[in-house]
Amino acid sequence: MKLFRCQHCEQVLYFENRQCQNCLHRLGYLPAAGTLSAVEPDDRVWRALASPTRRYRFCDTAGYDACNWLVPVDSPEAFCVVCRHNRIVPDLSLTDNLTRWRKCELAKHRLFYTLIRLDLALPSRAEDPRYGLVFDFRADAPGAGGHRVMTGHQDGLITINLWEADDAEREKLRSAMGETYRTLLGHLRQEAGHYFWDRLVRDTGRIETFREFFGDERQDYPKALQGHYAKGPAQDWQASHISSYAAAHPWEDFAETWAHYLHIVDTLEMAFAFGIRVRPGIDERSGPAIVPDFDPHDPGNMNRLIEAWLPLTFAVNSIIRCMGESDFYPFVLSPRTVTKLGFIHALIHQDRPT
Ligand SMILES: [Zn+2]
Ligand SMILES: [Zn+2]
Repeated sequence: MKLFRCQHCEQVLYFENRQCQNCLHRLGYLPAAGTLSAVEPDDRVWRALASPTRRYRFCDTAGYDACNWLVPVDSPEAFCVVCRHNRIVPDLSLTDNLTRWRKCELAKHRLFYTLIRLDLALPSRAEDPRYGLVFDFRADAPGAGGHRVMTGHQDGLITINLWEADDAEREKLRSAMGETYRTLLGHLRQEAGHYFWDRLVRDTGRIETFREFFGDERQDYPKALQGHYAKGPAQDWQASHISSYAAAHPWEDFAETWAHYLHIVDTLEMAFAFGIRVRPGIDERSGPAIVPDFDPHDPGNMNRLIEAWLPLTFAVNSIIRCMGESDFYPFVLSPRTVTKLGFIHALIHQDRPT
């Protein structure tokens, strides 16, 4: 993620800001330009200071304060390029639903920011009625015996249980599952990983190469998950998987690793935006600091990302421990996991996996 600047007053802005705290201009995100822009009213629509020749309106979802993205005024779409992927949203007359859905949308907009920056195709259901990417945000039915919503992906449909947006509930689940990391953004990136497995692996004839890296996905999926929940992963899962859940099945391995690739790209961009430089080790002998002189969305090769990433995680974990908090980065990147990340890097950048 980038830092942004108000075009009117130069104030530093964050992706989710709705208004410049300094000059009070309303703010909207322009996905084509990849920038947040101060806007000014212009005959019942808006003029964006970052794109003054066109006029815009806000996405319809802005009415719920769940989106700040702009739509060109001549577009037939009521929703922005993110919100047009929604199929079901919960009953927003219930305050808890609205609060949780807003959190889902914040995370989903961050997901799309990265997917757009990586130049990945994101057809909606209107554009691809069979496999277009679409989201359901749903709440469990009330009562002990009510229908429980399963977070997951199926043929382009990503379903998110709204409970995942409740911090206390999600932390309870994380602890019960023995996980070291569980976030809403992580869920969205992971489910998007399943979607892109269909698109970039299954539908492009790369399945044999996929199996060389991740194993044979034809093994029984429900049985594999049952086994994972009943017995847990193999003791040495860290030698070849990014998380214990990734060891459950090759599909989950791919999705977990995909999410991790997005974590790395997004976090590095923000570290670079702040000019953070970290030496690979802790003294001069370790060589020069990593110079943030590349775009993590287009780094050239995977090694460049990893060389910048590992010292950053070491530094931030060390800093956050000083505040008595748990690790910011509770993962170990084994050489095999790095090769899997390299496979995903090649898929995204349209190379033949090597
Ligand atoms: Zn301003
Ligand atoms: Zn929107």
